[in-house]
Parts: sequence; structure tokens; C-alpha cells
Amino acid sequence: MISIVKKFLSFELYTKILIALVVGAIFGAIFNVDRHRVQIEHGPDGEIETADVRNWENITVYAKDREWNFGRSEQDGLIRNIERLRPSERRQARIEVIKIDEETGERVTRVYDTIRKVETVGTVATAVRPIGTIFIRLLTFIAIPLVVSSLIVGATSLTDLTKVASIGAKTIGYYVVTTSIAITIGLSAANIIQPGLRMAEEPRERFVSEYQEDVEARIDEELEVSVIDQIVNMVPTNPLQAMAEGEMLQIVFFGIVFGLILTSIPREKAEPVIKLFEGIMDAMIKLVEFVMKIAPYGVFALIAATVGEFGFDILGTLIWYVMAVVIGLLIHMFITYGILLKGLSSMPYLYFFKEIRPAQLIAFSTSSSAATLPINMRLGEEKMGCSKETTSFILPLGATINMDGTALYQGVAAVFIAQVYGFDLTIAQQLTVVLTATLASIGTAPVPGVGIVMLIIVLRAIGVPEEGVALILGVDRILDMMRTLTNVTGDAAANVIISESEGKRSDTSKQAA
Ligand code: ASP
Repeated sequence: MISIVKKFLSFELYTKILIALVVGAIFGAIFNVDRHRVQIEHGPDGEIETADVRNWENITVYAKDREWNFGRSEQDGLIRNIERLRPSERRQARIEVIKIDEETGERVTRVYDTIRKVETVGTVATAVRPIGTIFIRLLTFIAIPLVVSSLIVGATSLTDLTKVASIGAKTIGYYVVTTSIAITIGLSAANIIQPGLRMAEEPRERFVSEYQEDVEARIDEELEVSVIDQIVNMVPTNPLQAMAEGEMLQIVFFGIVFGLILTSIPREKAEPVIKLFEGIMDAMIKLVEFVMKIAPYGVFALIAATVGEFGFDILGTLIWYVMAVVIGLLIHMFITYGILLKGLSSMPYLYFFKEIRPAQLIAFSTSSSAATLPINMRLGEEKMGCSKETTSFILPLGATINMDGTALYQGVAAVFIAQVYGFDLTIAQQLTVVLTATLASIGTAPVPGVGIVMLIIVLRAIGVPEEGVALILGVDRILDMMRTLTNVTGDAAANVIISESEGKRSDTSKQAA
């Protein structure tokens, strides 16, 4: 045992994380939560009780003057629907369970009032989630000070304002173009594979009713993306608030303006401020090194808990849809980025995909571009040879607005839902998907699960029923992991290409070879 641990510790970081991921997935699959068992916490204050409910035939929830029915395999929908109710609505809700009594074999009905919580019964795999959550929190807390300090320090060496504007325009232009390519690939994959036409009638109706409340709550969220608003919102009214709230675009704006202005005040005044930010930056980089050391454990916990909670049954029903998304993502990642890197940079294809792997694994296990940012920045500077000035601008901007994976997935999802509902999308509608999914992906926050909410904007624009989101909710977690991996790879490729075009990249691949 000790020798196995020693062997594990001697591997290089990427291998350790990969092993952790595979072992975590196996662990999660073995200790998968029981899909036919829930705990219902109910009862008035002071008399709260927990009922352990197994193998129900049907569960009816009466809430908000309506009723929802959940069959044997609809645990996920039941829990999501209850979670979406406000606490006061929950307290007025009633749950009726119909099941066969294990001892007598008779059909019995149990009624629970004053509902507090409905949840699955955890396993050891889900019990390790807090370790993973701490890991994500550590990464996220590094991100803001790291971005602020490295942007300020970087901007102090950018004296030419037109140069700044040119990098900015180039980066945004590049991001919009690659995102549009991504959606086009997504649309093509969905049109060729036709996942919607391969889905049976029964699961379709079941999913729509199972996730009804969850989807309605998402549809009710305020959703709008306006380019003008995005531009106006880039200017913070209070930089400290921007940092406190993690508003990345505002932080980028502040960092550049502040760094540039520092160079125009007397040197003796600017120097200590720059030194201070250099110190913060170095400390944050050291912290990234430390967090990377514990990454295998964080990744293990996250994957074990996610797989442990995942209902594999649903995967079978949606396999064609999942395949369309995954094939599209793989094509975009290995072919589009490959061609762009080959044509627009001198970085060898294999070198890029080898060095980016740690960031990809972290993106996959955290489902958050924001949490992956510190690692992506470190790899950008150390392994890809990109300068601090360009990396600290291109990557935070990319993490926020460049989401090729999310956009591609929205393209596939829109066509899939349209197909299931029997809509034949015209060329004009597909072009609308390209436009709205580009905007929606720009407006998507770099945290888990937001892509599916923004999908509603796309569906609205082409007149496809928004409730269709219910069809794909069950596999969203898994696809979120894949699309986030693509998102961060796209940012890293952009960093290499744009840094090099600005003469801000040294060739690290030769050093390594
Ligand atoms: N989780 C994705 C990211 O952070 C966003 C999304 O598509 O939900 O990049």
C-alpha cells in the first residue's frame, strides 16, 4: 500500500490528476446514490421528522395550487422541482407517496405535510464533495487577486495606447469568429446525427413533466443580452465592488486603466504601488503552485461526488444528443484549434495539446472556467511562453466572454429540441441560432451550469418551446464538464496565437524538446 502511495506521489502532476480522475469516476460509479430512495424532511417547527422513502410507485407533489407526478425513476425531477419552490411554498406543500409495502405486499399511501427538504441519501462518494468544494473555492479566490495584480503590472509596460486598443480589438474579433465556427460545427453535427428524431415519445413526455417546475423557474429568470449594456457595464462604478463581486470584465477594464495611468505619474510615486502589486502577483502564483499540488485530491473528490450523484439511466435515452455534442466539441477542439494554431502560430500541435492537459482536467472536474483561470494563466506564461501583459488580458477576458464549448452545445441543443418538437429549422433560423448563441455564450458566466439557462434565449429567438430545456437537464452536468474543457482550451489557443502575433511569445516548445 505504502509503495503504491509512493509511486503515485512520484508521477508528474498531469498523470496524478488523471489517475485521480479515473479512480474518482470508478469510485463514484460504485457508490452511486440509490435512484429509488429519497429522504423527505417534513413537519412543523419543533416537530421536524425525516421519512426514508424507497421504491415508490408514484409520488405526487401538491404545491402552488397544482400537482406534479413523479414515477419510479423520476427522483431527479422530484428533487429539482422541490428545490425550486420557495421555503414558504414548500411549507405549504404536501407530498403523497404510493408504494407497495415490503412486508404485506399491499399498496399503501403515505402523506407528508409541511415539507422542508427532499434529498437523496448520500454515499461515501458524495460525502467527499466538501474536499472538492474547498478546492474550487481556493482556485476561485486566487483568480481575482491574480488577475488584478498581473493586469496592473502587465499594463505598466504597455505605454502605447493604440497598441492596447489593437490587442483588445484583435482578441475580441478572434473570440467572436471562433465562437461562430463552434456553433456552425454544433449545428452541423446536430443536423447530420439528428438526435431529436431518434428520441422516443415516452421519455420526451416524461422529461417535460418531470422537470416542469425547474424549467419554469429558469424561464422566469431575467434573461437578456444586449451588446450595448455589456459595453456600458464594462466600466465599473466602484472597482472594489467589481472585485468583491468578481465582475471580470470590469476588473480587466480597471486593471488596464490603472496600470496605464500609473506610468504617467512621477516614478517615485508609481514605483511602490507597482512593487506592491508585483508582490501580490508573486504570492498568488506561489499559491497556484500549492493548489496544484493538492489538485489530484480535489479532482478525485469532485469527480467521485459528481459521478456518484449522476443517474446513468438517463444517458441511454439521450445518447445521440450527448454524442452530437461530444463529437462537435472534439472536432472543434482538435481540428479548428489545430488549424488555427498551425496557421497562425509557430507552436507545434502536439506540444500545445500536451501542455494544456492539466488545465483541461481541472476545467473538466470543476466545470468552471473561472476556477481554471489561475492554472491556465500559469501554463500560458510558463509552458506556452506567452508574456504576462498579453496572458493577463487575453485569458481573463476569454474566461468571461469566449465560450466556444458552451456556444457549440447551445447550437446542438437548439436543433435537438426543435427536432423533438417536430420543428424543421430554416436556414434563417439556424443563422439566428449562430447570432444569439454567440451573444448568449458571451453573456454566460464562467461558472457551472449557466450555459443551459442562456440556452433559453436561443430557443426564444427561434420560437422553439422553452420547456424543451427539460429534455436535456438530466445530462447537463456531464456536458457542462465537456464544454468547460473546450472553453478553456479555446482561451489558451487564443493566448498563444494573439501573443505571438503581437511579438509577445517566446518559443518554449524548443526549450522543452
Ligand atoms: N461551466 C461553463 C464554464 O464555466 C459555462 C457553461 O457553459 O455553463 O465555462
